[in-house]
Amino acid sequence: NGGRDPREIPFTRPDSPTRVILIASGKGGVGKSSVTVNLAMALAQAGHSVGVLDADIYGHSIPAMLGLADARPTSIGDDEESMILPVPTNGIQVLSIGMMKPERSQVVAWRGPILDRALTQLLADVHWGDPDFLIVDMPPGTGDVQISLGQKLPNAEVIVVTTPQAAAAEVAERAGTMASMMSQRVIGVVENMAYLEVECPHCQQPHRVELFGSGGGEQVAKALTERLGYPVSLLGQVPIDPTLRSGGDEGVPVMAEAPQNPSSVVLRGIANQV
Ligand code: ADP
Repeated sequence: NGGRDPREIPFTRPDSPTRVILIASGKGGVGKSSVTVNLAMALAQAGHSVGVLDADIYGHSIPAMLGLADARPTSIGDDEESMILPVPTNGIQVLSIGMMKPERSQVVAWRGPILDRALTQLLADVHWGDPDFLIVDMPPGTGDVQISLGQKLPNAEVIVVTTPQAAAAEVAERAGTMASMMSQRVIGVVENMAYLEVECPHCQQPHRVELFGSGGGEQVAKALTERLGYPVSLLGQVPIDPTLRSGGDEGVPVMAEAPQNPSSVVLRGIANQV
């Protein structure tokens, strides 16, 4: 798309069938990308058509999590009219800013205006094909991408991911407040890394170890309910799951590898509430 005007973003059309859901967090490392990928797969397994957009411009990790680190999207149509095709995998259609770089090691270092234009292209010049859901992995925090996508997708809904720690919950609240400032609706909170289930050495019963404390998800849901003036619920508490971690590293999401693991079961429960 050389110099011509950008296309219209299909998701803002009044008749768009697509629900756009932004997965947001206050800070990095809380499992936002893991939630994005596995939630998208759970929705696809439930029979929905699902697109995934990795908008975590500076920390894009979705391709590696799906075994697509070296995948490059193709395009259809002639030069002027060409559109990018997202990459199909595990029943979902995926596009990441990381797939648009000529080389994997290259760094994306864009300032606001270029970033804004790139985001428009990722929404408008990609053949998303009116899926039921577009799940967007947001960068952590409250920055340029949040503002740009707030302007481009005022009808998007937002899920806030946090860990159980009080300090993490506090920054997560800001992500929810930011979304509401952009007039996006916060539909719920996911508490990730909620606990580790271990067998008690004494009674051999399963026992929950709260490695990162407890209550963060509840705290964010309560604070956002008060601040935004409508109910924001805690959609689920995803346990710490070594398979979720190794699956992410190896490019095989836990939802595909171990659909009966407790983390997969909780994530499916979250998908059912969306
Ligand atoms: P973010 O997108 O918030 O930066 P990631 O999804 O990349 O976070 O997760 C950070 C790391 O933690 C990854 O290595 C991921 O595999 C791991 N991780 C995330 N959630 C869990 C979980 N519930 N159990 C075990 N490991 C997890």
